[in-house]
Amino acid sequence: MQTADIVIIGGGIIGSSIAYHLTAAGCKSVLVIERETAQGKGSTGKSMGGVRAQFSTPVNIQMSLYSIPFYASFEDRIGHPSGYRPQGYLFCATSGRHMAHLSANYTKQVAMGLKEVRLPTADEIRNMFPQLRSDDIVGGSFCSTDGFVDPYSAMIGFMTWAADHGAKVWKNTLVTGIQQDERGIAGLETSKGAVATRIVVNCAGPWAPQVAKMAGIDLPVEPLRRMLVPTEPFDQFPHSAPMIIDMSTGFHFRPESLGFLLAWNDPEETTGYKTDFDPAFIEKILTRAADRVPVFENLAVNPKRAWAGLYEMTPDHHPILGPAPGVPGFFLANGFSGHGVMHAPATGKILSDLILTGKCDLVDASLLGLSRFTEGRMIEETAVL
Ligand SMILES: Cc1cc2nc3c(=O)[nH]c(=O)nc-3n(C[C@H](O)[C@H](O)[C@H](O)COP(=O)(O)OP(=O)(O)OC[C@H]3O[C@@H](n4cnc5c(N)ncnc54)[C@H](O)[C@@H]3O)c2cc1C
Repeated sequence: MQTADIVIIGGGIIGSSIAYHLTAAGCKSVLVIERETAQGKGSTGKSMGGVRAQFSTPVNIQMSLYSIPFYASFEDRIGHPSGYRPQGYLFCATSGRHMAHLSANYTKQVAMGLKEVRLPTADEIRNMFPQLRSDDIVGGSFCSTDGFVDPYSAMIGFMTWAADHGAKVWKNTLVTGIQQDERGIAGLETSKGAVATRIVVNCAGPWAPQVAKMAGIDLPVEPLRRMLVPTEPFDQFPHSAPMIIDMSTGFHFRPESLGFLLAWNDPEETTGYKTDFDPAFIEKILTRAADRVPVFENLAVNPKRAWAGLYEMTPDHHPILGPAPGVPGFFLANGFSGHGVMHAPATGKILSDLILTGKCDLVDASLLGLSRFTEGRMIEETAVL
């Protein structure tokens, strides 16, 4: 029978970052099991690649304060590009309530050490981007070290480094069962046979609840479809632009290749494993796009290039990280609620520390444990995109 000290289920960006951090900490026996023939076919390959530290809760800010500098120095550390582009995130407020929210977040972010965030006035935003319809913009929040990464490249970088330093990756291998004995986790059943191990990490993205179930754990993670629309080449808006968020509708966009990538979270979307792109979404998003950026009336889009993927949502929009209560050796890294790419480096560090030392300095990991849901300790993040 095959054996491994630590088995990671799922080879997306989270499993890859954990594999990297474990091998970088000296683990020689890490096995990643991925059911697809190639990595990145889950949420990671569908992501918009946005990274930001402009959050409202300390734990999310802390995770970004580790992750964004990590992405900035990725190539030096790992020898592979992350595609980090520090073009910023610009939140545009259209009400006093929005502005109060951004100001409160700003105060927290600065107190926690974020130096590059500021609150531009409405006039400054008008000057930065005269193409925006700004009659209702009352101000905003901008952080220049926020920006974008290439999620696929970062995932491959993490995993290549891990594999070069002793980790094994089994692709095309489905985990079908988790075995336990009186000590806790004892092994796995897979489509390529059994694996004996005492430590399993659930990194199965939107499918994490099914994997958790194999160990008898109920995971409050629900898949929620998100759709993205890339445009054809477009030169009537600057390509140096940040991610721009219209807080009146939630419409947001960023430069991508010679065009732009458009996103809007339809409030009527319902949970479920839906990964088909709905062509009716194009009109909905273009209406919001042209409302905020009048020149976007001239955008051309090819519906065949648009796509859909799954967010892994938790009830409080924070991930579930750390040991699963009652199952010694079973660890969770799930439920990123739209932030899994930007928080992958921090998640790798947190899980590696918890697995290897039982504690973690980066964040108060007890805040993110599964038991918060049964103990009434949810931590609401209001700055969800
Ligand atoms: C449209 C869209 C836009 C997004 N934009 C952003 C963004 O701008 N910024 C950001 O930070 N995040 C964003 N996200 C969220 C981010 O993509 C995810 O949080 C992140 O990719 C989760 O990574 P993961 O490794 O946990 O999951 P995944 O990438 O889904 O990987 C899980 C892997 O587990 C494998 N697996 C599942 N079950 C089994 C099994 N039984 N056996 C073996 N393998 C199994 C799957 O095949 C899959 O490869 C976006 C998501 C979507 C859909």
